[in-house]
Amino acid sequence: MAKQRAFKTEVQKLLDLVIHSLYSNKEIFLRELISNASDAIDRARFISLTDQSILEDNAEWKIKLIPDKEAKTLTVQDNGIGMDDKELEQNIGTIASSGTKRFLEQLQANKDQMSPELIGQFGVGFYSAFMVASEVTVITRKAGGSAFKWTSKGDGFYTIDPAEKATRGTDIILKLTEENEEFLDEWKLRKTVERFSNYVEHPVCMDIRREEMPRDKDGKVIEGAEPKVTITEETLNSMKAIWQKPKSEVTEDEYKEFYRHVSHDFMDPLETIHWNVEGTTEFRALIFIPEKPIFDMFVPENKDKGVQLYVRRVFITDKCEELVPSYLRFLRGVVDSADLPLNVSREILQENRTIRLIKKNLVKKVLDTLAEMKEKNAEKYLKFWNAFGAVLKEGIHIDFENKERLEELMLFDSTATEEGKKTSLADYVSRMPEAQKEIYYITAESYQAAKNAPQLEAFAAKGYEVLFCTDPVDEWIMGEMPEYKEKQFRCITKGDVNLDTDEEKAAKEEERKKDAETNKDLLEAVKKALGDRVKDVCLSQRLTESACCLVGDEYAMGVQMERVMKSINPDTPASKRILELNPKHQLVATMRSLLEKGATVKVEEYAKLLYDEALLTAQMPPEDPLAFTRRMSELLVADSSAELAKL
Ligand code: ADP
Repeated sequence: MAKQRAFKTEVQKLLDLVIHSLYSNKEIFLRELISNASDAIDRARFISLTDQSILEDNAEWKIKLIPDKEAKTLTVQDNGIGMDDKELEQNIGTIASSGTKRFLEQLQANKDQMSPELIGQFGVGFYSAFMVASEVTVITRKAGGSAFKWTSKGDGFYTIDPAEKATRGTDIILKLTEENEEFLDEWKLRKTVERFSNYVEHPVCMDIRREEMPRDKDGKVIEGAEPKVTITEETLNSMKAIWQKPKSEVTEDEYKEFYRHVSHDFMDPLETIHWNVEGTTEFRALIFIPEKPIFDMFVPENKDKGVQLYVRRVFITDKCEELVPSYLRFLRGVVDSADLPLNVSREILQENRTIRLIKKNLVKKVLDTLAEMKEKNAEKYLKFWNAFGAVLKEGIHIDFENKERLEELMLFDSTATEEGKKTSLADYVSRMPEAQKEIYYITAESYQAAKNAPQLEAFAAKGYEVLFCTDPVDEWIMGEMPEYKEKQFRCITKGDVNLDTDEEKAAKEEERKKDAETNKDLLEAVKKALGDRVKDVCLSQRLTESACCLVGDEYAMGVQMERVMKSINPDTPASKRILELNPKHQLVATMRSLLEKGATVKVEEYAKLLYDEALLTAQMPPEDPLAFTRRMSELLVADSSAELAKL
């Protein structure tokens, strides 16, 4: 009779936790067992390099899944290193690895916060077998040694007995509980292996049974004949971890096929980056930049699914912000580290030095690649920027360390580029006339809105280029970039803009004073007509052709930002802007005359129309569309009558 032995209490605690909290991810038990089997084979293979005798007569490394529908057992078999009784006791009766122990501690400390999904991403080892099995039996033999059998019902006790086993290696036999009998199903096993163990280096095989009705020579099924049963052993995993191969051994087509596999994209990648790092940290990475956002990129459930983390070919997670910063969330591919333990908890991952080093290296590699693309293949880079520029820009806010490199990667439309051609900051600066001291930009809803903004007029007159910031994130990003190459950024729809040199200012001083004097009453009247719709009404320095425009004060929220804020909170108060009037404009002159002649009501009507016009050019709707159209119609009626009278 075998001696009953008790698990160390900590093991029992872990068992209970794993079994109960991981239940919704229970299929990971298979990943864990296959990964142990693969490790066991690696160890045997390593020894066999110097000691052929351990091969006995079986050198074809293999993991086999054996579902037995009658006995309701699933066996995971390997021909790896095997264990003797001492090792069985040590490895499976206690927590040998400090990784597992740490995992247990983390689990206990954070029981309430750690969702099963989170825990499920990380290795939990052999014990996870008890999620699906009421009894686990391990039959194992080392080469040249004798066999042992370990059995437990996961109730705190286990037994170890001598056993019979012809071949080297380990069989893990799971007596499946009733609700887990699906793991006897060929399809279920196939899917689970594909998801978690597809790239395990050794073949994961299974006997596949097929029944076929015998046919006559015309291909017709022979009535009443017994079906012909064939059993063929199939390999369930692809094993083709192409990231493990040197670059020179992977073809373009293999890369493309692999990309489609990891990304679920149907197009080819825009760029493929394959590299490995050796030294203090060791990892291999195969990263792709898609050509366009993959359609589900902004679906919340999928948005944090990105680069997949593997540990020695075993899938760990595809949601790992510790590995890839959020501003590179468009990347797809694989990172495979040899330095991480399989059983690493979320918390450990967050503080893990290896992960930090990998992240740093990955970010550098991707930014280097983009910089090179920008320099050598501008057309391709433009494609990239149009697809992901708005995401990449977020890095300015997040990644202080790489801020300067990110600035060099930014592209903008501008008054000096054709639509869609875009310029970099470096090119902008190289075009700056000597007198220009600052970098000018305008935030607007769209390219068209920016291009037609009346605020550009004074800049056009001076020959100063203005960048167009038309992504919703731009206003926020520009706020994080006070300067580039010691040149300040300045938003041209905010604050006081006066492009004149000191001499020009002095020369115009007289005229300004005169304008201020002649328009004093008009400004008063317009201010009164608009009431608290505007912060102020004043004369403009930036308009040369249009009659009016709206501007914010130095620290005001821009139109874009206001829209974003409103979409988050509809109660966000509209920020009041300043209405600027162009004293040289015909309409403003007419209003002055009307006012002098006492037509106050008319001037008020025009003031309201002007305000709506300014709102429209800034791509904001008029406050009261009905009133706006009524005023417009009245004007049209008056104007058309005047025209008619002339005929
Ligand atoms: P981990 O694999 O993270 O160390 P496990 O609980 O999965 O934790 O396994 C504990 C130990 O048991 C392993 O480190 C290994 O030494 C041993 N072991 C597990 N499965 C096998 C196997 N199939 N063949 C040989 N040894 C095994």
